[in-house]
Amino acid sequence: MAGIEIDRVGKVYADGTRAVCDLTIDVMDGEFLVLVGPSGCGKTTALRMVAGLEEISEGEVRIGGEVVNRVPARDRDVAMVFQSYALYPHLTVFDNIAFGLSLRKVPKATIQRSVAEVAEVLELTEHLHRKPRNLSGGQRQRVAMGRAIVRQPRAFLMDEPLSNLDAKLRVQMRAQIARIQRDLGVTTVYVTHDQTEAMTLGDRVAVMRGGVLLQIASPQELYDRPRNMLVAGFIGSPAMNMVGAELALDGEDASVTFGGHRLAVPASVLHRRPALRGYDGRRLAVGIRPEDMEDAEVAGPVVPGGDTLSSVADLVEAMGADVMVHFPIDAEAVRTEDIESLERDAGGVGHPGRGTVLVGRFSPRTRIFEGQPTTVRVDVENLHFFDLETGTSIW
Ligand code: ATP
Repeated sequence: MAGIEIDRVGKVYADGTRAVCDLTIDVMDGEFLVLVGPSGCGKTTALRMVAGLEEISEGEVRIGGEVVNRVPARDRDVAMVFQSYALYPHLTVFDNIAFGLSLRKVPKATIQRSVAEVAEVLELTEHLHRKPRNLSGGQRQRVAMGRAIVRQPRAFLMDEPLSNLDAKLRVQMRAQIARIQRDLGVTTVYVTHDQTEAMTLGDRVAVMRGGVLLQIASPQELYDRPRNMLVAGFIGSPAMNMVGAELALDGEDASVTFGGHRLAVPASVLHRRPALRGYDGRRLAVGIRPEDMEDAEVAGPVVPGGDTLSSVADLVEAMGADVMVHFPIDAEAVRTEDIESLERDAGGVGHPGRGTVLVGRFSPRTRIFEGQPTTVRVDVENLHFFDLETGTSIW
């Protein structure tokens, strides 16, 4: 086993496309690191450079302390699991799993034993004689995993290994991958565009955008302390609501106002985010997570200074465990999605525009109907604040 150091790595493709920019990540020995970001953010390119499938234009990749820039993929002692599984169709499950070992001229008896062990773990024992075409998607995925595990590599590199599976199977396999990685303790770099997958699997999660690393942190840290609006908007589902607002300080108390609404900013928040004091009388972006809202009828005691928003629900989606309530408010929307100038920066800039629809994730006990005036209570302890010019979190 070994740690992986990605040290100021960049990638420029032959056609001039810059896919990865100055990427530095230290993956610790035994760590499960997830690279996540929207399509085209450079995560696959980054992984392929670690695997040796793509030439490294700038910087260094080290595996177990050894610089591997010029080491061919087959000599890096890492196992890759692809979205497509890349199984050999003419070989049985047994031979697919055994393939890497056979190539290395491992003795037959050892191969037999290793494959049997791995098949047991992955519940493939009864399928060992079958060909990939006679397997379900989930079984094929497990064969691909088996092929990686059996080699006992220094690291697993996985590129969207679950994206061809249906939702239910994906959740099952996700748990299985987490368990296997924990049991084997093999350093793993896992690429996905799915933030739920990233958050559930990663010891740490690296969020990329436009070839740039925006933030690397534990899932909880990313959720609680996103570095900027892009990370805040990407982590969490539904996405964090963002509105343009004005901050006013009054001694130890503070409040934000937007479009006739007012929310208290508790002293504890000011204490946690001392830089907020510099925004007195200024505009900033306020972030409210959907799960930090509740129907005022159901929710607990009122915070003095205002913790409610009144509106008319225009869409109510009952989802069983939650109810998603959409309610338009007259406030300045802040959209991070449209920000082109940001694609190459690690910051964020708000785009003002009037009128925004907030989404609240309410408890299923909520009795809210479309077209009905609604009062929503906001957990003001958990408000987020961002600079409108740079998009960075205000701490
Ligand atoms: P996806 O999730 O869609 O696979 P990604 O985040 O993994 O996206 P990459 O596949 O790494 O992103 O691509 C990053 C950028 O590099 C994209 O703009 C892509 O179009 C570009 N790119 C990828 N491969 C090549 C190539 N062989 N030649 C030129 N540009 C490429």
